[in-house]
Amino acid sequence: DDNTPQRRIKPLDEDVINKIAAGEIIVAPVNALKELMENSVDAGSTTVDVSVKEGGLKLLQITDNGSGIEKEDLPILCKRFTTSKLQKFEDLQTIATYGFRGEALASISHIAHLTVTTKTTDSECAWRAHYGNGVLVPAKPGQSPDPKPVSGRQGTQITVEDLFFNVPTRRRAFRSPANEYNKILDMVGRYAIHCAGVGFTCKKHGESSKGISVSPSASCLDRIRQIYGASVANELTEFETEDDQWGFKAKGLATNANYSTKKTTLLLFINNRCVESTNIRKAIEQTYASFLPKNGHPFVYLSLEIDPRRVDVNVHPTKQEVNFLNEDETIQAVCEHLRSKLAEVDASRTFLTQT
Ligand code: ADP
Ligand code: MG
Repeated sequence: DDNTPQRRIKPLDEDVINKIAAGEIIVAPVNALKELMENSVDAGSTTVDVSVKEGGLKLLQITDNGSGIEKEDLPILCKRFTTSKLQKFEDLQTIATYGFRGEALASISHIAHLTVTTKTTDSECAWRAHYGNGVLVPAKPGQSPDPKPVSGRQGTQITVEDLFFNVPTRRRAFRSPANEYNKILDMVGRYAIHCAGVGFTCKKHGESSKGISVSPSASCLDRIRQIYGASVANELTEFETEDDQWGFKAKGLATNANYSTKKTTLLLFINNRCVESTNIRKAIEQTYASFLPKNGHPFVYLSLEIDPRRVDVNVHPTKQEVNFLNEDETIQAVCEHLRSKLAEVDASRTFLTQT
């Protein structure tokens, strides 16, 4: 009976499933960039260079000087759930590296043209491979899909072209490449501030002037000065605290009562992953309320390390939301410490103006 053919339950095409899954992880170019930067840092790189065309929609290229990828691993590099970072489910609890699910490259390969050029120290040459829908594809129709030897330096270059080319609804949602580029610059800046010992650059493809350029040896304070300016950097207070009961270590740099701006800037890293937290943002704003003029807001870089067994990183595909045990107590302890630091600076300032 062909009256109700639409009502039958049928499995979706695998291709459709893969595109949906990819779209949940890579919502905008900046999500792809973040995954690729984390891979580069995971690989032990000391330089990470980002080049961008049309806000990352036309081209997103990340070049690092890390470990490189073995030629033998290239055929499965973009297969879903292939990773060098996790073997058992229990490993999720102690994972120290950024990536853990082997989904990023696979996802990108389903919604963009992906090219990988990579060289390990042991390899005599670099290898270049092209990917589509999770597998090796030829560079040009009719050619072999096998990786090709090319000349190149140690490390990995990942080139993502025409992001969302096969997801027209998503592609059309991006009205302003300039806006996407700003999100990318912001994210590179955050990792540049957090990743000590790693140099970062970010620029528009083909332009020589760089949006961000931070040398591997720059201090955290230097990095903040370069990226957020002297007015922020000159008013920073260092803080560091830990608590065994709640199982956390916190450290960072936060502006003192001399600095105040329209909107809070919070650079938050939990176990080395850039995340957002409304709870932490609110608590910090409350902490500053007694130090800053009305409608004044701080700049805060906060790196929280939480015992991995207490963190649930597996809650959202973008890994943007992180939950951990005793969140309230931890936030309160961090803010209490910050408050005492700010009070110290405030007291010495009052003292200075009195004498
Ligand atoms: P995950 O990071 O969760 O393992 P990805 O899809 O991001 O998953 O990466 C898959 C694997 O590819 C990684 O486990 C790693 O072995 C390798 N890889 C990806 N990017 C790089 C890189 N820049 N340098 C070295 N190895 C890399
Ligand atoms: Mg990864």
